[in-house]
Amino acid sequence: PSAVAVRPALAGASPAYLDARLPVAERVSDLLGRMTLEEKVGQMTQAERGAIDGDRDQITSLALGSVLSGGGSVPADNTPSGWADMVDAYQSKALATRLKIPLLYGIDSVHGHNNLVGATVFPHNIGMGATRDPRLVRDEERITAIETKATGPQWVFAPCVCVSRDLRWGRTYESFGEDPRLVTEMAVGIEGFQGERKRDLATNRHVLATAKHYAGDGDTVFGSSTSGTYTIDQGVTVTDRKTFARIDLAPYVTAVHEYGVGSIMPSFSSVDWKEDGVGNPVKMSASTELLTEVLKKKIGFDGFLISDWEAIHQIPGDYATQVRTSVNAGMDMFMEPYSAPQFVRTLLAEVNAGRVKTSRIDDAVGRILKAKFELGLFEHPYTDRGLAKTIGSPEHRAVAREAVAKSQVLLKNSRGALPLRKDERIYVAGANADDIGNQAGGWTVTWQGSSGDIIPGTTILDGIEQNSSHVTYSEDASAPTSGSDVGVVVVGETPYAEGVGDVGNGHTLNLSDTDKANIDTVCSAIRTCVVLDVAGRPQIVTDQLSEMDAFVMSWLPGSEGAGVADVLFGKRAFTGRLPVSWPRSEGQEPINVGDRGYKPLFPYGYGLRTAAHHGH
Ligand code: BGC
Repeated sequence: PSAVAVRPALAGASPAYLDARLPVAERVSDLLGRMTLEEKVGQMTQAERGAIDGDRDQITSLALGSVLSGGGSVPADNTPSGWADMVDAYQSKALATRLKIPLLYGIDSVHGHNNLVGATVFPHNIGMGATRDPRLVRDEERITAIETKATGPQWVFAPCVCVSRDLRWGRTYESFGEDPRLVTEMAVGIEGFQGERKRDLATNRHVLATAKHYAGDGDTVFGSSTSGTYTIDQGVTVTDRKTFARIDLAPYVTAVHEYGVGSIMPSFSSVDWKEDGVGNPVKMSASTELLTEVLKKKIGFDGFLISDWEAIHQIPGDYATQVRTSVNAGMDMFMEPYSAPQFVRTLLAEVNAGRVKTSRIDDAVGRILKAKFELGLFEHPYTDRGLAKTIGSPEHRAVAREAVAKSQVLLKNSRGALPLRKDERIYVAGANADDIGNQAGGWTVTWQGSSGDIIPGTTILDGIEQNSSHVTYSEDASAPTSGSDVGVVVVGETPYAEGVGDVGNGHTLNLSDTDKANIDTVCSAIRTCVVLDVAGRPQIVTDQLSEMDAFVMSWLPGSEGAGVADVLFGKRAFTGRLPVSWPRSEGQEPINVGDRGYKPLFPYGYGLRTAAHHGH
């Protein structure tokens, strides 16, 4: 049934909203004036590509405003043209609607266009935070925008400007760090995505950005609920309004004021105000105070809010209550991956019953249309494939490799262990030395990411082998005494996304038994011992540190593992600094710079420097 064929097709002269010479505000109000309620509600709805693939005509019949690829929701042909063909096919369905309003296609390009095999995959944000280099973050997102848009999507769910205050949070690696000032500086990535000037958005080089997850997602309490200890993800931020503004809101003020971020995604988490008497947590998606009063009115955000994946389903009450509560709180577009038709029906009924005002609907739709006009979608709805040849190009990879090198944090270096010398016989151990999937982490091709050879690029071992011809590698650290001068043990995590971290490792920050054994074996057998940690967050190394001559935090470098070798061999200096405090034990969490009695293993900002030297 066609919900939208209520009004006749456009006839006669071309309507004002199609006139690209008119100011965006005029085009928005002209178009809004022509839309039926059904068409408006359709614009507020986002479906998952997997859900509509069997019935693409839903895009037309529901007049859907947007489609997304959730993590790992990739086309069968996961190539640039496979993507562009898919997105364009959806677009043609949107353009078959009465008013021909183009579709907005959204995707999680959170460390490069990470869903696409062959894209340039950057270090996750935690590593970018360690670089202390906002210019590099802007470059990263400039490249990510080009690689993403060349395959179709015009909208990314990035950057995460979360301030991570507890390493037990499974999304710590999506954060630039624990200090709101650092995160705020890195919000400059929005400029890389969207361009410096408004008109950049309409070019083939830029995408609409999303600051997420508004707000306090990284500041939730561990074990706060009776349902278990793992509520730190999608949990509750227990705070007062002043502290919340200083720690959690700060990056959003800059995202809006300095960079005009196009969209913001409210968090799955809740906030529980101390001054109101703790005990009444409010889901972010239901908070009129935070969405409308603070963000839209006080901060002045004029973009649109996109709800997180089925986030409204977490609001108390039946579905109609959830929809009504969130729309009335200020949410503009709804990520309802598998329930788009139900969402449309429900919101229509709520408006018709007078429980949601049409002025609220117009506000939401006006914000969404504004983005579509600014993106130039009405003029250029289809993918410009011209820049697809730059995807994963040497130029793009060189920037990622520089980022990898600058993200490495040298935490210990005794007896001149580093830099390594080309003539040394090097024994490398540990699975993470030669696993590009592990070194890329979550949000790589699939949502959770996976171990193994999942994307092209270089592993850390590849990088070491490019520098030295005396390298022996053993994944399980067997027989390390073959006359080696240096042992390099690579420890760390295996990929995960959201939740509470490395499930294989029992959710903890502790090193796995295998990693501990590898350190023991190699460091006792070889004179000089270097340990690298490939993980999304600091791991507990308090008992192992004395065995190591050098210790390097490598984070999750992505596709350019050779960047790690660049600093190991001194081609580049170590300059990275910790973006989070490094705890002595898991029990020390949460620990953040400025805390009373602050005694971490390594403080926030720590990082030894070496000089780059050339030519041995
Ligand atoms: C995550 C978001 C992401 C969305 C779409 C959610 O589960 O919390 O960060 O943008 O999925 O994939």
